[in-house]
Amino acid sequence: MGATTIVTRFAPSPTGHLHLGHVHSAAFAWRHARRAGGRFLLRIEDIDPTRCRPEFTESILEDLAWLGLDWDGPVRVQSAHLGDYRTTLDALSARDLLYPCFCTRADIAREVAASASAPHGPDGPLYPGTCRRLSPAERADRMARGEPHALRLDMRTALAALTAPLSFEEEGKGRLRCDPAHFGDVVLARKDVPASYHLCVTHDDALQGVTLVTRGEDLKPATDLHRLLQTLMGWPEPHYAHHLLLTDEGGRRLAKRDRAATIRDLRRSGVGAAEVLRRAGVVPPASDLP
Ligand code: GLU
Repeated sequence: MGATTIVTRFAPSPTGHLHLGHVHSAAFAWRHARRAGGRFLLRIEDIDPTRCRPEFTESILEDLAWLGLDWDGPVRVQSAHLGDYRTTLDALSARDLLYPCFCTRADIAREVAASASAPHGPDGPLYPGTCRRLSPAERADRMARGEPHALRLDMRTALAALTAPLSFEEEGKGRLRCDPAHFGDVVLARKDVPASYHLCVTHDDALQGVTLVTRGEDLKPATDLHRLLQTLMGWPEPHYAHHLLLTDEGGRRLAKRDRAATIRDLRRSGVGAAEVLRRAGVVPPASDLP
């Protein structure tokens, strides 16, 4: 990446204790930074108050420190920055790229079931666009009445605003084309939280100067949408390195609910940090290990 200092990050959501899959991901980002003499950041993606808990944040910090996966600078905790995300939403709204959506999950499920061919995207069935068709007067009226609403990206308008096709640079693979239309009118601000994963992750990667986004390949489809948001907002384009997901001997993905694999449990049962890293698929050269 030329003279640019490499900046990577690990961005867990504190919905549980760290498991081996997380360690694999954290070490992947840590090594990419440390090998290049770059910076490794830690960000806590905790905007969902129903699923995230402060004690899990504490436990994540403690486990990473115990493993020797040290991070640079302060930890960014997303829930403390909702105003930043609001500013981004306002900028997109000012360009008519967002609209309020009053639909409940049941409304959407009904519409989808009634339609002959409901297209699906990476996050499930695409939103059928019900609230995109509301008149400005009805929108204003329902908002004035305080009706709960999400904010959705108007995908067609967003794509029409582009001047060139979207792509991203995947380490080792070269440039890959993006097709964000697969997400349809994706939610950028939820009803219960004035933000969303896609909005916050792209905002923060730009704000924190992340040059190489590393994460599991399960999130690779999201990169298409992230490149769209970056382009709409005029944010810099990071490179990407999506890694394989860690699986057990049976080939099953290690899930958070797999208690046996939490780092906390391994530590308590006397397993050392080097052995945890080994089980997380962090293969030496030893010089790379903490
Ligand atoms: N917070 C996301 C997660 O825990 C990861 C975000 C990312 O790396 O882009 O799945």
